[in-house]
Amino acid sequence: MNKFILILLWLGSMMLAQATTIENYQPYLQPGLDKARLQLADIEPLIKQYAADPALKVTELGRSVENRPIYLLQLGQGEKRVMAWSQMHGDEHTATAALFDFLNYTLAPEQQAWREQWFSEITLYIVPMLNPDGAARNSRVNAQGIDINRDALALQSPEGRLLMQLARRIQPHYGFNLHDQNRFHAAGDAPNPATISLLAPAYNAAREINDSRRRAMQLIAHVKPWLDRQIPDHLGRYNDSWSPRSFGDTFAGMGISTVLVEAGGHRNDDNRQVARRLNFQLYVAWINAIVSGSYRDAALSDYEAIPFNNSGGLKDLILSKLQVRVADTEATLDIGVNFHTEGDRYARIHELGDLTGYGAYHQFDVSGLRYQQGRAYPLTEALLLDDQRYQQLLRLGYTHFSGDAKLLQRQTNLPVLVNPLRPTQSSPQLRQGATFLLVNAQGEVIQVLLNGQLLDLARLEVLNPLGT
Ligand SMILES: [Zn+2]
Repeated sequence: MNKFILILLWLGSMMLAQATTIENYQPYLQPGLDKARLQLADIEPLIKQYAADPALKVTELGRSVENRPIYLLQLGQGEKRVMAWSQMHGDEHTATAALFDFLNYTLAPEQQAWREQWFSEITLYIVPMLNPDGAARNSRVNAQGIDINRDALALQSPEGRLLMQLARRIQPHYGFNLHDQNRFHAAGDAPNPATISLLAPAYNAAREINDSRRRAMQLIAHVKPWLDRQIPDHLGRYNDSWSPRSFGDTFAGMGISTVLVEAGGHRNDDNRQVARRLNFQLYVAWINAIVSGSYRDAALSDYEAIPFNNSGGLKDLILSKLQVRVADTEATLDIGVNFHTEGDRYARIHELGDLTGYGAYHQFDVSGLRYQQGRAYPLTEALLLDDQRYQQLLRLGYTHFSGDAKLLQRQTNLPVLVNPLRPTQSSPQLRQGATFLLVNAQGEVIQVLLNGQLLDLARLEVLNPLGT
């Protein structure tokens, strides 16, 4: 009999574990949001559409510095109040897309029973783009140049004031603080991007744990086993030092159980669609956990077991074991290259030497090949550049073109550098451009690195195309 009850309990717990979140997310992903950036114009038509749905209430929370509307969506009428806000940093939009996936799921006809259940327990307040001005210029800060997430005390930005007024008015029990993080964060010691990082922010310098922070930690601990299955060794914990100017920390101090979600990179996933759907699934999981209270069984040790982000643990590209000669000194080096965006997108040598322990979005073993500086091909007369001609020039050691760009007629889709700002160097140099030849022992050019893109010369194929 006891054994029978134990089996029933075990089966029940398995079913609960499986019900942590939805697995069939695909039909609910909002089309049109798989983009490098999201602005108000991307989501405003969706919000207008939802405004007609009696299942939720859409209001204008207020206006940004440049008078763009900031919307508030309200769902449910339960006593447990949850507040979620995304894109307070204008260039961090992954969660904004996920919130619309979540809305699609919640309002789908087949979810009526589920929806009615949690609507009776929870009132959910969503601010899906707190910083529309920053979104318009793809910047972290607002139109005043203020980082809204450092304005929780000074409240000099209208956007920050709106968020604080909302929190004071509704006094949420739970807060979902939704961000994107730098793609160079690795998940602890794993050589992988932290695709999701979570944190229950501290409310004081001693990082003490009170009831409200404990609940936030338990919400995170509750989803950890599921995340570990979804993205093994890609889960991180965000830096937990106390930052009183930040909203998460300030809200934690106001007794709001706040979880910080940082969407991060993933290999072959430039627009962070993996982090997006995990965000969506996390919201469902947390709504379920708040309704049932099941998260209160989660152990804080599961939270503590999440490794901290390893800042800078990831590189965009690592070329390992390249032969390099400087003066008369011969060395075998790993070369780490990162892409930067400051106006144009360019690649820079970020680190040289032994890069064991680092991860990379793309990594190639180039042992047996030697670094060689490229040459400039002077454009003095018209040049028709098709694949074959380009291959010939690269074999001759030309990595770029100089002179009158109008003389060059491109008939190739391969990357072509004309009058590059960061020329090729006689030897690899930190913080300098990433353009050079890789030659074999016979001096033949085998591969060419063109502004961080590695071209296999025989196959005429870029091995790490931009955007992956
Ligand atoms: Zn952020």
